[in-house]
Amino acid sequence: MGETKKKTRIICIGAGASGLFFALNCASDDNEIILIDSNSKAGRKMYISGKGRCNITNNCDVKEFIANVVRNPKFLYSAIHRFSPADTIAFFNEHGCPLKTERGNRVFPVSDHSADIIDCLVKECKKNKVKIIFDQKVKEIRKEKDQFHVICKDREFAADKLVIATGGRSYSSTGSTGDGYRFAKQFGHRVVELKSALCPIRVKERINREMLKLTLKNVSLSAKNDRFHKTIFGDMEFLPGSVTGPIVLSMSSLINREDPVELSLDFKPALDDEKLDKRLLRETENNPNKNISYLLTTLLPKEICAFFIENTGIDSDLALNSLTREKRKELLDHLKHFRLSFDRLEDIDKGIVTSGGVDVNEIDPRTMESKICDGLYFIGEVLDVDALTGGFNLQIALSTGYSCATALKG
Ligand SMILES: Cc1cc2nc3c(=O)[nH]c(=O)nc-3n(C[C@H](O)[C@H](O)[C@H](O)COP(=O)(O)OP(=O)(O)OC[C@H]3O[C@@H](n4cnc5c(N)ncnc54)[C@H](O)[C@@H]3O)c2cc1C
Repeated sequence: MGETKKKTRIICIGAGASGLFFALNCASDDNEIILIDSNSKAGRKMYISGKGRCNITNNCDVKEFIANVVRNPKFLYSAIHRFSPADTIAFFNEHGCPLKTERGNRVFPVSDHSADIIDCLVKECKKNKVKIIFDQKVKEIRKEKDQFHVICKDREFAADKLVIATGGRSYSSTGSTGDGYRFAKQFGHRVVELKSALCPIRVKERINREMLKLTLKNVSLSAKNDRFHKTIFGDMEFLPGSVTGPIVLSMSSLINREDPVELSLDFKPALDDEKLDKRLLRETENNPNKNISYLLTTLLPKEICAFFIENTGIDSDLALNSLTREKRKELLDHLKHFRLSFDRLEDIDKGIVTSGGVDVNEIDPRTMESKICDGLYFIGEVLDVDALTGGFNLQIALSTGYSCATALKG
């Protein structure tokens, strides 16, 4: 009788996007895969992603993908090439969860339910005999000789290889409480300082109630300091004490390692100074007996007019027939360069992703293995990689999980 070959036991901490995708791709006759999660269900963060619809990837090529990565794009080259957005689309279409592409190449399940993405991943895990152990928070890890000892709330496991897929530090109610960083440090890894990313930006101006319902469409937000200047075009929204919406979230990721920045808003980016001045002049000539308050309603959504007046100090009662060339220029400057006083980025817990994490210089980009500790791997958001909105962050989780799986599968 031939001896049965001993299976390699691989434990992955975290049954989120990266952990599930790692597990279903790594399972084989030679590997026993155990996924451990502190939650009672898999993919809690994925469940709330994309406003409950899960923007699973972005239907773009690798070059464009990399251009949307904020931290350490080069590190991701290999992983994204190995498992690209096109591979993600093919995977879900072939495994009973059809996808569709929307504006900005954002890809969602046809059903518009994030639960269908999670169910598909969990089903594939089960089909491949992955063991998923819920309600077990990993508290401590010890390495003795070549074995990892994973100590949970009330159980203990031993493994030949260990994959850390514990996510970032934001939306900690979904289970990603930042434990992975502690484990990384314990094995001698450097953890790059964590920062909020894809988060609202707190401003000093008082946001009034009317503005909370407003989506300011097609505006440009600029941020600058002595060595940095970025402008982003798109939509913006308001919260009590902060600004948010697509352009603000993106800007937060670009400025989170900058000194304080000056923020300014161009309400009319489609019109250059000359065209906007002509427009102001035309409105003024056509309505000489109306005042600046009226003029503003022809240029801005009504919900923001009071805020504009309050924060520019312009005389809203001034009749348009008294609007001098200088006053018109002043108004134009406020419309093109409306100053928002930067306070700070919103707390890390309120960011869609965490910037910073396990230093990628200490990780092999082809396998995700630690260069410091043999048999230890890091995948997903726990790494110092993050991208803009549009499905890029979940794709990073899938691609890094896949690279690690293929490396461990041999
Ligand atoms: C509101 C919101 C919306 C988002 N929308 C999108 C979107 O539409 N598209 C997109 O691309 N990205 C989106 N993201 C980001 C994306 O969800 C994450 O980048 C992605 O889930 C990261 O995957 P991960 O596997 O690294 O971590 P996670 O999915 O966070 O999984 C980590 C898992 O590890 C477990 N864990 C942590 N510590 C322990 C421990 N000590 N013991 C046991 N288990 C542990 C957690 O319980 C969790 O299940 C969104 C994020 C948020 C917060």
